[in-house]
Amino acid sequence: MTAPALRLCCCVPYCRHTRGSRKNDPLPADLAGWEWICAAHWRPVPWPIKARRRQLDRRVARFERAFDRPAYRTKLMTTGRYDAFAAAMNRARAGARQGWATCRDTAIEIAMGIAG
Ligand SMILES: [Zn+2]
Repeated sequence: MTAPALRLCCCVPYCRHTRGSRKNDPLPADLAGWEWICAAHWRPVPWPIKARRRQLDRRVARFERAFDRPAYRTKLMTTGRYDAFAAAMNRARAGARQGWATCRDTAIEIAMGIAG
């Protein structure tokens, strides 16, 4: 017996689109906190909102790349800037979450005829 296929629903209310696990983009076993917007609802989101989200995601990636370098971590430790770096990385992550939330809210508003 195989486990039931895991499907993630589009976060626009009443949208019946779902996505499954993809080879290069697998879903976790626990979908809590995971959100997705289907292509039909993603397309009408204005590009500046999507561009802002990409910018905020890149900021997080830059922090993570720096943090993954052992030499950089050592430098943060020895210069006493570790806490400041961690705080800035957390702020970047909060910003990226907000960037996604704006995309999601805009997609829902356009789908419901409130915006757009
Ligand atoms: Zn949808």
